[in-house]
This record gives sequence, structure tokens and C-alpha cells, in this order.
Amino acid sequence: MKRRIVTGILILCLLTFFSVIHLETVQAARKYVSIASGWVVGVYFPLAGAISRIAHENLPDIKITVESSGASVANAKLIATGDADLAILQNDIAYYALNGTKPMFDKPVPNIRGIAALYPEHCQIHARKDAKIATVKDLKGKRVAVGPLGSGTEANAMQILEAYGLKFEDLGKVERLSAAESADYLKDGRIDAAFYTVGVGASAIVDTALMVDTMIVPIDGPQADSLIKKYPFYAKDKVPAGIYKGVDKDVPTVAVLAILVAKAELEEDVVYRITKAMWENIGRIESAHAKGKEVKLEKALIGMPIPLHPGAQKFYKEKGMIK
Ligand code: GLU
Repeated sequence: MKRRIVTGILILCLLTFFSVIHLETVQAARKYVSIASGWVVGVYFPLAGAISRIAHENLPDIKITVESSGASVANAKLIATGDADLAILQNDIAYYALNGTKPMFDKPVPNIRGIAALYPEHCQIHARKDAKIATVKDLKGKRVAVGPLGSGTEANAMQILEAYGLKFEDLGKVERLSAAESADYLKDGRIDAAFYTVGVGASAIVDTALMVDTMIVPIDGPQADSLIKKYPFYAKDKVPAGIYKGVDKDVPTVAVLAILVAKAELEEDVVYRITKAMWENIGRIESAHAKGKEVKLEKALIGMPIPLHPGAQKFYKEKGMIK
């Protein structure tokens, strides 16, 4: 009897020992991948969450952790330093990063590589109706949030104002707030307008529009033409009627593209498997945010301004999309 108990305990100990060893090996083999996203009240953040979930459900040895951030410019810099493995950012900013275009970048980000173009991001100037801003020109002298520090929005705000002959100095007050703060300031009347380059339907705009009378300021006419001529990443687009309370007609504006990128140093196989899993489980992205429904494999390479990561290249080659 005693012998049996001792043998039993011994077996139990051995089993525990080997399962701990097994767990440790799995954990040691697990690859931790970070993805720099954007504003919690934006669209990058929920989509990055969906990508992380896809990995969790399909790639047991890869764990993707999502970080919120100021967004595009900050994310490109995180890729440069290797602090982020993946990132979502605007295609114009990715191009400026690769080329070290000032004032956004002091030096090039040579290790930024493309995985996929995702969806259009509209330049949306969200204004209080009581501020009486009918056109971009009327922003002169007004209190304006020009985009969070490290955002692509700020670069777009500068270029859009330039197309209308304005500079930041012409504004009454320039605020650099997080996107959530911009929304709060707009609600409270502490600012008159806020720039957002973000997927239509972002909660930063939807929620504010429910609480105060607001509008989207159009970007159109010869100014939109000259903007596109000087900075060809912009394309004409519109904020459709019915997405935001108070916006009952389509509003013309310009849009860039959100893209998914990786640092060049991330292993080819890891990027290949993430790319493949993402496209094979696109339903997760579609259900994470309304904008996710616009993410389509056939558009993955359109508007991609930087070289593809070899892991992504391998996937698109298999699909016959590139040679
Ligand atoms: N496009 C935005 C920016 O870089 C971020 C949008 C988002 O977080 O969804 O300024």
C-alpha cells in the first residue's frame, strides 16, 4: 500500500515536472510581436485588436500585443527604432518616412516594409456649427486642434491649410491634443474645430456629433486640386451623408490610405504567416469596425508606396497577385 502511494506521488511529480518543462518550451518558442496602432477613439486600434485576435486563434506560437499611440508619424518612428514590429499608418506618412521627408522626419526610416493597404482615411475637419466655419479659409483666427503629436493628421492639417493659403500661425489657437481630448474640447466649446484623418465613422467624431451641433468642413474646388497636385497621395472622396448626426448631405473631401507595415527585421516566416492568417480570416476585421468591411485582398497592393516585406511578397506571389 505504502509503496503504491509513493509510486503514485512519484508519477505525479514527474508529470508536473514534464508539463512545466513543456509549458516553458512553448513559451520560449512563442514569438511576441507588437503592433503600433493609433487612437483608442480611431479605427487603427480596433483593427489592430482584430489582427491580434486572428493570431491568437490561428497562430498559437505568435502573440500580437496592441499598443495605442499618437499614430502614423509616431508609429513610423517606432518601426525605425525597432520598438514596434508591425504598425498601421497612413500611406503618405509611410512614404515620407522611407524618404526622411521634413518636417515629419529628420532622417529616413529605411526599414519600413509594406504588408497590405487597408482602407481609405478621410481628412475630416469637424467643426461646431456655432463657430460658423463654412470653408477651410474660415479657420483663420479660430481655435483648432490640428491633430495629436506624432499623428499623420497634423501633417495633413498643415498641407490642407497651405492649399488654402493658411499656416498654423494664422489660426487663433493651435491645439495638439489626443484625439479623445479633441473630441472633449469640441463638445465643451474649448475649440471651434478639429482635424482628423481617420476612417469615416470613428467614434471620436460620431460621439461628439451626438452631443453638440457639428458639421464637416468641405475640402474641394481648386484648393483640393492644387493639394492633390502637390501631394499626390490625396484622392478626392466624400464623407457620406448619414454617418454623423447633422451631416445630411455628402461632404466632399480628400482621403489617403491606411496601410499595415512591418519592420524589415521581422522574420519572413512570421510576416508570411500573419499576412496569410489575416487574409484568410478577414471576417474578424470586418466585424471589428465598419471600416473593416472595406479591407479587401484585391486592393491590398493598390496605393502601397513602400517596398513589400519579403514575407508579404511570398503570400501575394502564391496568390498570383505579383510575380
Ligand atoms: N490616421 C490617423 C493619424 O495618423 C490615425 C487614425 C486612427 O488611429 O485610426 O493621424
